[in-house]
Amino acid sequence: MTTNTTSHILDSSIEFLPGVGAFRADLLKKELNIFTFRDLLYHFPYRYIDKTRFYKISEITEDTDTVQIKGVLRRMEVLGEGRVKRLSATLRDEFGVSLELIWFQQINYWEKSLLVGTEYIVYGKVNWFNGRVSLSHPEVEAATLAATEKRVNAFDPVYSSTAKLDAKNLDAKGQRKLLRALFDKLKPQDLSENLPPEILTKFALMSRYDSLLKIHFPENIQESEKAVRRQKFEELFFLQLKLLQQKVTRKAIIRGNIFGKIGDYFNNFYGKILPFTMTGAQKRVIKEIRQDVSVGKQMNRLVQGDVGSGKTVVAFFAMLMALDNGFQAMMMAPTEILAQQHFEGISKYCEKLGITIDFLSGSIKGKKRDAVLAKLISGETQILIGTHAIFEDWVQFKNLGIAITDEQHRFGVEQRGKLWKKNPTAPPHILVMSATPIPRTLAMTLYGDLDISVIDELPVGRKPIQTVHYTENHRLKVTGFMREQIKLGRQIYVVYPLIEENEKVDLTPLNEGFDALSQDFPPPEFQIAKVHGKLPSKEKDFEMQRFVKHEAQIMVATTVIEVGVNVPNASVMVIEHAERFGLSQLHQLRGRVGRGAEQSFCILMTGFKLSKEGRERIQTMVRTTDGFEIAEVDLRLRGPGDIEGTTQSGILNLRIADLVRDGRILQAARDTAQEILSNDPQLELPQHHTLKMFLDLQKDKARVWAKIS
Ligand code: ADP
Ligand code: MG
Repeated sequence: MTTNTTSHILDSSIEFLPGVGAFRADLLKKELNIFTFRDLLYHFPYRYIDKTRFYKISEITEDTDTVQIKGVLRRMEVLGEGRVKRLSATLRDEFGVSLELIWFQQINYWEKSLLVGTEYIVYGKVNWFNGRVSLSHPEVEAATLAATEKRVNAFDPVYSSTAKLDAKNLDAKGQRKLLRALFDKLKPQDLSENLPPEILTKFALMSRYDSLLKIHFPENIQESEKAVRRQKFEELFFLQLKLLQQKVTRKAIIRGNIFGKIGDYFNNFYGKILPFTMTGAQKRVIKEIRQDVSVGKQMNRLVQGDVGSGKTVVAFFAMLMALDNGFQAMMMAPTEILAQQHFEGISKYCEKLGITIDFLSGSIKGKKRDAVLAKLISGETQILIGTHAIFEDWVQFKNLGIAITDEQHRFGVEQRGKLWKKNPTAPPHILVMSATPIPRTLAMTLYGDLDISVIDELPVGRKPIQTVHYTENHRLKVTGFMREQIKLGRQIYVVYPLIEENEKVDLTPLNEGFDALSQDFPPPEFQIAKVHGKLPSKEKDFEMQRFVKHEAQIMVATTVIEVGVNVPNASVMVIEHAERFGLSQLHQLRGRVGRGAEQSFCILMTGFKLSKEGRERIQTMVRTTDGFEIAEVDLRLRGPGDIEGTTQSGILNLRIADLVRDGRILQAARDTAQEILSNDPQLELPQHHTLKMFLDLQKDKARVWAKIS
């Protein structure tokens, strides 16, 4: 390994690999993002074809993906006409179990080529239909001795490719040739070990060189698995090392405002004004925050808590800690509606405490805005609530002590930089509140550089929301139930999915639903508010207010109400076309009810036909109200890429590890990184020299961040 990384052989342009040249290099760049030797080396196979193994047909299960089977062709006939015309054959293995082989294309060819009574080796993807197994368009070869023997070594990696690459002999086979050429050029010392020997021993990991070689050229499944495991560990380990080191460094370097004392604001609120008893979890999290802000280091903490767990009041206590020590505080929410709601809720407390609070959003302009800004810079305003507008450069504080964001918005590097500048002295403490429970594996990665608190307890007296699933034929029953609830004085949300096609928003389901409801619940006795994202904000506010003030008993809405709206008297949530919503969205929506003392209900309306995944989503919602459990299912069903807040993070561009499946490797990697850093936070010990070097290679983003601070 050379220290001057720019001259490392892996940085050579792919063009210079024997067998590539300018033209194919161009293709590799465009189609696969392969620019250098390194890129090719890390262009891992996405699966392996194992033709060393022969399956028994009886072994095939719903989870089996592809199989190779040896058997005798027992029957063959052409069935159906036109589009369903097909060649159907039966293959029976030596244990007397059969499956069907099907061809929809090249029927004549296959009919002529295959002979009933002959033994064949077939390989293909498993299809299940009505409880029966078939392979369509399998690879077929006569089961000669040679064909059988050839398969002893037939364990091959599969690479992603494209039609353009295939056309230029750069399909999987061509790519394998290039990798062969690459390994001919590479010496073991070019791929020197980057993990300490104790770690290799502890987790029985392959060496770096071996794993990179064997991931491309494994002899059998065991070898490929070992190679993959080593690469996954390495990837997750360096990621965790990076995240944890950022955290350690920040704590070591960045000074934080000291909120040394608990003063009158805090004590008065806690002792005289707080209208309820805090849950144990809320108290614990407040203590964690208090600990963070009193030691002179900058706090960077994520508070995770399910909807209704009472995050706002925790945030308010954190603000009071700042105020008691002469600092200002701010809280930002992702939408104007939510920010307004926080402003109104918190204002009530502030009035009683004699605290000056103000509001800022993009819609506040001109003189009004100037006035807000003037009071902010002079220090008269103690708490500012608002939207993203707070990040604008013209928003300046006198001495901002703490910055809080509500609902799944974390500060990006850039925004953090902006916050720094808002304050002449030390950077503000940072608290991120998230109501989207994130599975542990994801949190460790996405928020790996933050401290995490969890409010895992709901206020006492809350009755768990009852969730039921109905199809259209129960409509009358649902309407009757709604009428009953309204008679009891409750309010109801009815939510429709927003259908977006070609960037046009289709409000038809919402409008039709509104019309139908208006017939069942006619004015003047009943009032229905209607809210959707396309409404001008004045009208939206007006409609919202009608519901908040209980002038309307029903609110028909698209998912604009998903985030944070708080009407404790609303006790029923009807979700139409529930199968079209993602799990976390359903959970968020359901969280809008169950906020008062009354028993609340969530009714999931769907069509009769549900996909397997749709059914599992609905069943999960009916089974549990635990946000973390729901998040785990969501992660399993959708994969991490689609989980809220992950797409923009880039952290999840993992090369090989999979946060859903590799939770245990991730935990081991994180624990190991933690252990190393606890003894050697800056990786200065000689035995950590290599680690530091590799980490530095990966740290581009972190550097930018370090400059800002
Ligand atoms: P979320 O965590 O979803 O943001 P909120 O902070 O909006 O939840 O709290 C939901 C409701 O519960 C609010 O009306 C709030 O005043 C109330 N609340 C918060 N904590 C408690 C508690 N410990 N006991 C009773 N009610 C509480
Ligand atoms: Mg909230």
